[in-house]
Amino acid sequence: MPSPVPAGASRHTGGCLQPVLLRGRADYIDGGTGELIHRYTTVHEPGGVLPIACKTRRVSRCPPCAEIYRADTYQLIRAGLTGGKGILATVADHPCVFVTLTAPSFSPVHARREKDGRVLACRPRRKGKTCPHGIGLSCGEKHSRDDQRLGEPLCPDCYDYAGAVLFNACAPELWRRFTITLRRTLARQTGLTGKALDAQIRVSYAKVAEYQRRGVVHFHAIIRLDGPAGPADAPPAWVTVALLTAAIDQAARAVSVTTPAAPGLPARALTWGRQLDIRLITASGDMTDTKVAGYVAKYATKAAECTGTLDRRITPADRLADLPVRDHARRHIAVCLRLGKLPQLKELRLAAWAHMLGFRGHFSTKSRAYSVTLGSLRADRTAHQREYAIAAGLQPDLDPGTTLIVTDWHYSGRGDPPGADLPPLRGGQPCPGS
Ligand SMILES: [Zn+2]
Ligand SMILES: [Zn+2]
Ligand SMILES: [Zn+2]
Repeated sequence: MPSPVPAGASRHTGGCLQPVLLRGRADYIDGGTGELIHRYTTVHEPGGVLPIACKTRRVSRCPPCAEIYRADTYQLIRAGLTGGKGILATVADHPCVFVTLTAPSFSPVHARREKDGRVLACRPRRKGKTCPHGIGLSCGEKHSRDDQRLGEPLCPDCYDYAGAVLFNACAPELWRRFTITLRRTLARQTGLTGKALDAQIRVSYAKVAEYQRRGVVHFHAIIRLDGPAGPADAPPAWVTVALLTAAIDQAARAVSVTTPAAPGLPARALTWGRQLDIRLITASGDMTDTKVAGYVAKYATKAAECTGTLDRRITPADRLADLPVRDHARRHIAVCLRLGKLPQLKELRLAAWAHMLGFRGHFSTKSRAYSVTLGSLRADRTAHQREYAIAAGLQPDLDPGTTLIVTDWHYSGRGDPPGADLPPLRGGQPCPGS
């Protein structure tokens, strides 16, 4: 149940397109005397209901709420890089890099390649080479940015869809193993035991998943080394960016996750792709704190639907052939549904996450000491709105220490989005802001 909602809160849904509608009331009672000091009821709201913002992070569902999520994520990511929001500015002196961990190749796909601002051919000629299905293995086109074929395989029948969905399903575990291996590698490189390392260094990170057009996730992460107490604590002087970079490189290349074997599907070891990008975050140039925070915040509000799949679960009533998705996504979904029936792969829950092409992880995660939390940013905003409501006479100014608030709320449906006449955002269309 929501916390007590101030009268006039309907002004604070921030333009939500699919608000939750509540019916009910909040009684403000004097804790000493038991006297009812103030009552808020939805009876006087338009339609007798109070709309509450849906607070989704997904831009395909509710752009105004996703924008609030994006802005908050930007603030907390940036605070972890340069300070602010209660984080000391000295955090900017700690060794910190921006890492991109990619997926391996599952067969050639159409790609836009650029070099020095010039667009290059997608896959230059390889004389007469064809796949077993008779499809040429070269593509001489210089694809435009909005080419629908980008990310699609040259030959769909050669594409390793099982490998792609298994990678998506195992990517969160691969990340978890990477973070553990990174700590061990740092210990080995510095000649410390794990325990001695923990007493001197704390590894903090913030990571975000991004769907590539080919339908696999990759991760972008800010990885920072602090002293043991976190962002306010400087690491020892011998802890350098070079040390961090070398440890990330080794750890990323060392980890793998082996999937269970099943009839017709041998066990396979999944690793990160060869393309590992580690960049220094600097005050000026390509990778500034504002750019990095902007990237992370942008990807935190997007999901699989940006690769042309669905943004909802697939139900038994759905017919695969009728789903409004592109063929590349349909093939991923079909493989998820097929492999999801194998008892050996039960734990990957591939059928339940077929609409996400197998990925069931969180889009944006942070280690505990990376920065402030989204919750604390939201609490600040709520306090600010409360002050505003009191100043505007919309809410009584009661002492929170002695006032009891008794609420009785009932869910009353979803609000009609303003502008229900807008075209729906469906799979296959470019996502807003992409
Ligand atoms: Zn919303
Ligand atoms: Zn091509
Ligand atoms: Zn083929």
